[in-house]
Amino acid sequence: TLPLSEVDPEIAAVLADELGRQRGTLEMIASENFVPRAILETQGSVLTNKYAEGYPGRRYYGGCEFVDVAENLAIERAKALFGAEHANVQPHAGAQANVAVMTALMDHGDTMMGMSLAHGGHLTHGMKINFSGKNYTIAAYEVDPETYTVDMDKVREQALASKPKVIVAGWSAYPRQLDFAAFREIADEVGAKLWVDMAHFAGLVAAGLHPNPVPHADVVSSTVHKTLAGPRSGFILCKEDLKKKINSAVFPGQQGGPLMHAIAGKAVAFKIAASEEFKAKQERTLAGAQILAERLSAKDMQDQGVSVLTGGTDVHLVLVDLRNSQLDGQQGEDILHEVGITVNRNSVPWDPRPPMTTSGLRIGTPALASRGFGEAEFREVSDVIAEALKPGADLEALRGRVAQLADDFPLYDGLENW
Ligand code: PLP
Repeated sequence: TLPLSEVDPEIAAVLADELGRQRGTLEMIASENFVPRAILETQGSVLTNKYAEGYPGRRYYGGCEFVDVAENLAIERAKALFGAEHANVQPHAGAQANVAVMTALMDHGDTMMGMSLAHGGHLTHGMKINFSGKNYTIAAYEVDPETYTVDMDKVREQALASKPKVIVAGWSAYPRQLDFAAFREIADEVGAKLWVDMAHFAGLVAAGLHPNPVPHADVVSSTVHKTLAGPRSGFILCKEDLKKKINSAVFPGQQGGPLMHAIAGKAVAFKIAASEEFKAKQERTLAGAQILAERLSAKDMQDQGVSVLTGGTDVHLVLVDLRNSQLDGQQGEDILHEVGITVNRNSVPWDPRPPMTTSGLRIGTPALASRGFGEAEFREVSDVIAEALKPGADLEALRGRVAQLADDFPLYDGLENW
């Protein structure tokens, strides 16, 4: 019963420092968010002690009567939120959910089509040294060199040529919506299963602000911790006919005991995601990304060689193109870090700079929307970013503007020990 500060002061200091960092800076990494206090509570709870291999009502351990309630709530809420026939809420993370999907739908060596990592896809969609690229034959599709969007005619041609068993639609760095109905048609034409990875945009889908892939896809995988603002973890939705295959691919296929504290957190996240308040937050998230895209494509930015890929966004992130700027992605990330804004550098398609430097920035609005930002604050932070990316910027003054915004929107007020 000793507190962390006594048992391990070094780790207690890490927690305190990280809380201070999150409070004092502006988080704009597109895949991050702030979970509500209720989710911190589930994750720091006694549920972490419980082994519960198996599924509710069919466990390989005793004493599961209460964690079963949590998992059933998570399952039912996920199904209701996304209109799915079946939900598996056990994947430890997004990558684990994706491994389960691949093992359920394919045998080693089968062909899968996914968006190239260099063009915005995720590692698990076929990157060479990832599980996906090592175990399956990958036919990666790319964005169009003129529009930087996915051209469905080209995807169709490629699918007819490579005859994939699975087509994956989803992304980690792409500022537009995918056409799920067109992906479905192509999958049907070539006899492939359609898998949508909605990790990034699941929160927008839950709020009804992005097309729902569930009616179109055989399987949908997701993380819970990006726009959905839940615990760091994953889940899978599918039609009834794939339920058995998906469940056994997760457990015993590739995971042991589920993380019951995280599963309880998922139940809470799905409940919150069905609320009006959550929808209003996702509206602010989208409005913020549009304000940012507009500011970063204004004339004064073009004059600096800074632009926005696809000219805007329909989601929660903006991809800044620095190929014509004196700044590379690493320098852009570092300058923003100096003024107190956290983003990540990101390769742009056909990036002339190496992956550790890059010519792009991926900037997202979900965490600041969770913090309470509305249009006025997104205008202010967008202007700070724009000014910081210009040569000779007054970084001291910009740091002050960031500190003011951080002060105006306190984070985890009163939670000193988390
Ligand atoms: N799928 C997509 C599209 C992602 O963007 C990510 C995370 O970045 C993942 C899967 C993997 O999630 P995790 O980091 O939880 O394994």
